[in-house]
Amino acid sequence: MSERVHAWIGLGSNLEDPLEQLARAITGLATLPDSTLLAQSPFYQSRPMGPQDQPDFVNGVVLLETSLPPAVLLDHLQRLEKAHGRVRLRHWGPRTLDLDLLLYGDQTIATERLTVPHPGIPERDFVLRPMLDIDQGVTLPDGRTCRQLLAECTDNGLKRLEPSATAGLATPPHPH
Ligand code: AMP
Repeated sequence: MSERVHAWIGLGSNLEDPLEQLARAITGLATLPDSTLLAQSPFYQSRPMGPQDQPDFVNGVVLLETSLPPAVLLDHLQRLEKAHGRVRLRHWGPRTLDLDLLLYGDQTIATERLTVPHPGIPERDFVLRPMLDIDQGVTLPDGRTCRQLLAECTDNGLKRLEPSATAGLATPPHPH
C-alpha cells in the first residue's frame, strides 16, 4: 500500500462560465482513484497575470489525500483540463481550466514535466489566500509559511466571491 500524502491543487478559469468550470473540475478531482477530497476553498476573483485584455479569473484550491504518484496525478490533472476543452491560445492567455499541482506532501520535485512546489506560489495571492482558508498552518518544504508569503505578496485586487455567486456548487467539506 503506497503512502497517502496531502496534495494541494490550484484551479483557475476565465472562460465559458468559470464557476461552472471549477465546480465540474472539483467533481472530477473528488472522484480520482486512490484519492479523497479533504477540503475545497472558497472561490476568488483575480485579475489576469500577463495580458490584461481578457476576463478576470476565478480561482480556488482543493486539498486531496492521495496515494497516486505525482506524475500520475499530473496525468489526471491534464486529462481533466483536456476534458474541459482547454485551448491555450497564448502564454498566460485565457483558458477554460488550469489545474496546477501546488504541493505534494513535503516533497520537492524537479523533473521535465513537474516542478513542485509550484514555482508560482509565492507571488500568487489567488493561490496563497485559498490555501490559508483551508489550513492556516500550511508551509512549503523549505519551511516558508504561506501566511508569511501572503503578507509579502503584491496586492492583485483579489476578491472573495460571496456564497451567492457560488450557489449551486457543492458544499465545501470541513478541512481535516
Ligand atoms: P500551464 O498550464 O501553463 O500551467 O503549464 C503546463 C505545463 O507545466 C505542463 O507541461 C506541465 O508538465 C508543466 N508543469 C510543471 N510543473 C507543474 C506543476 N507543479 N503543476 C502543473 N503543471 C506543471
